[in-house]
Amino acid sequence: MKTSTPYTRFQSTLHKVLKRIQLESGQNTLFDEPQYAHKNNIVITGDDGLQKTFPAFRIQYNNARGPFKGGIRFHEDADEDEVKALAALMAIKTAVVNIPFGGAKGGVQVNPKGLTKKEVQEVAREYVRVFQEHLGPDIDCPAPDVNTNPDIMAWMRDEYEKLTRSYAPAMITGKPLSFGGSLGRDTATARGGFFILQEMVDRLALDPSDMRVAIQGFGNAGAHMARFLHNEGYIVVAVSDSQGGIYSPEGIDPVRIAKYKEKTGSVTGEYCEGSVCDTGRMNMDDVKKITNAQLLELDCDILIPAALDNVITADNAERIKAKYILELANGPTTPEADEILKKNDVRVIPDVLANAGGVTVSYFEWSQGRSGEQWTANIVDERLKRVMLDAYKAVRREARRKEMTYREAAFSVGIKRMMDAMAVRGWL
Ligand code: NAD
Repeated sequence: MKTSTPYTRFQSTLHKVLKRIQLESGQNTLFDEPQYAHKNNIVITGDDGLQKTFPAFRIQYNNARGPFKGGIRFHEDADEDEVKALAALMAIKTAVVNIPFGGAKGGVQVNPKGLTKKEVQEVAREYVRVFQEHLGPDIDCPAPDVNTNPDIMAWMRDEYEKLTRSYAPAMITGKPLSFGGSLGRDTATARGGFFILQEMVDRLALDPSDMRVAIQGFGNAGAHMARFLHNEGYIVVAVSDSQGGIYSPEGIDPVRIAKYKEKTGSVTGEYCEGSVCDTGRMNMDDVKKITNAQLLELDCDILIPAALDNVITADNAERIKAKYILELANGPTTPEADEILKKNDVRVIPDVLANAGGVTVSYFEWSQGRSGEQWTANIVDERLKRVMLDAYKAVRREARRKEMTYREAAFSVGIKRMMDAMAVRGWL
């Protein structure tokens, strides 16, 4: 059997949806490859005086609806195929939430944990130097992704401004608050996903206090989500990180877990001895250590993958007990797993909708950078809610009208919006 890759998995959904919306064959090919795939080597002189070389990518999938937009990841496994898939997902995502951007993604094949802070800064600045002509507030506006953060965004903006002798806060988003960032960007991905989940629960007349939630990943997306849900009365029964997870049918207090993670480096740290966890701090007798694989198959109502891609597959989809899956991670579910979940009536709120809060607040940051305004946290929150609920409504309606899964419906909504802009530009 041919092994799938991130991009072939993207194409599998893409082609299924293109068929459903009956594009004429010539038009289909317009979506099959990115508009531009820029590749280069980043060469830095390390602190030891030796040269280090890292392959780097900026893949620009589609800009019919606005400037290219998408994060830059620093990861030893980042390769062209993965970055291409993420760029394509970004184009669908910006169209689903109807913000005036296209889709792109960047990557540097590097393990930043093996570099000093000075070397990481050099990689960041060199990335801008090698791709400068392809970047800019009206051309392509990057953001953070895996292993990149506000400091890195600040260095990139500074490098760009030096090279172009301009003031360009809108050339990149996810910047520190003190250097052109937006309030609410740090919690935006979880907040956006929370608005959708809450709307779904309301519409289905479910009671949050009956909803048991398991969350894989306790980083930016997962930890904030756990806190929002806990505060609204949901029962967060399990959380995990790269070291493993903890489970309690009675519920876990994510604020306490965050504190212990900060101290011990893991959500499983300190609490657990063998397979039974120290309950003193949490007033629970039955907190258990679990693996990440066990977390996915727990007896719960809502499952939130918020860590890695490709974790819900043909191998475990049949054993998933949750009725609802909210994809905060990008690409957590394979197309084969999607089919199994559909058969089992599991509703999946797909990544291109569920985690679009991050790029939406990036758009707010870009707008503030261009206008010189500073929005309050309340304004950001209100506008984010409106964007997310409008997108959810459009996807829900499409799913109902066309009898599609939410992933197919989200792709359908996004592709049609892209096509409208492509038609105006004479690309079709
Ligand atoms: P993060 O680095 O802040 O957190 C990642 C979490 O995943 C950490 O808790 C880490 O321990 C855990 N993890 C790592 N390896 C794991 C493994 N093998 N098993 C289980 N857990 C593991 O990253 P993040 O920003 O929270 O991003 C998480 C996911 O959400 C990614 O897929 C990312 O692309 C997606 N996402 C994030 C944003 C955002 O704004 N942060 C926006 C859109 C999508």
